[in-house]
Amino acid sequence: KRAKTGRHVENYQTQAFTLARQQFAMETALRRAIEERQLRLAFQPICDLASGAIVSFEALARWRDSSGVEHQPSDFIPVAEESGLIVPLGRWAMDEAARTLRWWDDACGGHCGMRVAVNLSAIQMQRDDIAPVVEAALIRHDLAGDRFNLELTESAIVSDPDRIAGIMHALKALGTSLAMDDFGTGYSNLAYLQKLPIDILKIDRSFVSGMLADRDKIAIVRAILSLAQALGMRTTAEGVESNELAQTLAALGCTYGQGYLYARPLEAEDALSMIVAARAA
Ligand code: C2E
Ligand code: CA
Ligand code: CA
Ligand code: CA
Repeated sequence: KRAKTGRHVENYQTQAFTLARQQFAMETALRRAIEERQLRLAFQPICDLASGAIVSFEALARWRDSSGVEHQPSDFIPVAEESGLIVPLGRWAMDEAARTLRWWDDACGGHCGMRVAVNLSAIQMQRDDIAPVVEAALIRHDLAGDRFNLELTESAIVSDPDRIAGIMHALKALGTSLAMDDFGTGYSNLAYLQKLPIDILKIDRSFVSGMLADRDKIAIVRAILSLAQALGMRTTAEGVESNELAQTLAALGCTYGQGYLYARPLEAEDALSMIVAARAA
């Protein structure tokens, strides 16, 4: 029996070691990918639920490595966070989002009518000085701050509330809007909502998808919507995959929707085609 337990421990250690090695391999590859510009941004439309009009695009990191393998953000973002590579990755994403918006504006002969949402990781906010990074991107690409919506998670606020509050006010002073991402999945103390300058609550997909057939989910969505309304915040529902869901959310007073009903994350040029088509209509 003892031998069996010993082997079990050994297997566990071997597995842990293999996992650590895989993580390290991915970290090395990701460091090169950032340096060699193998990353790109995909853009997913966010629509006004009542009218269906596109109002913004969320910028989502994509990584195709030199052997052609497409890695998922759910795999490489955690590695970037653990290794600190989220700092250069996040700086790149902000600048690339601004560069793309400048391109879209130029292609439309002026303001293209869209905002871009950029994700800020809690680890990135702890380790980097974000407001100057955002300001530099605005200046470099000649854009007003109100063209950006920055998405934060509750974990950023938990880590260092006072410092994060200062950063959020500095970002607001640049003209950007702030969204609380994946709302409802993290921190449960809601006191921060009244103290921090949050414009939008993004309702996590885990509550939205399947809510039509689940009384508990719909109750949570309703509660988040009434909380946001009471606090004067707008709302975005993630994971809107059907027309019925979009109509129900609109009837409940949700402001925006994002999901496969409207489009999957698109290459920047395909997003531009969508903008141009919407402007012509
Ligand atoms: P997120 O911020 O919650 O982004 C939304 C995710 O939901 C995206 O996954 C998007 O492709 C997916 N999605 C959108 N609509 C639907 C839908 O209707 N159904 C389903 N099933 N999924 C939908 P993606 O692109 O794989 O990104 C995963 C996460 O990785 C993001 O979640 C975000 O937390 C993180 N991430 C992506 N890019 C960046 C980045 O540049 N910086 C940081 N810090 N995080 C990023
Ligand atoms: Ca997000
Ligand atoms: Ca989200
Ligand atoms: Ca989410």
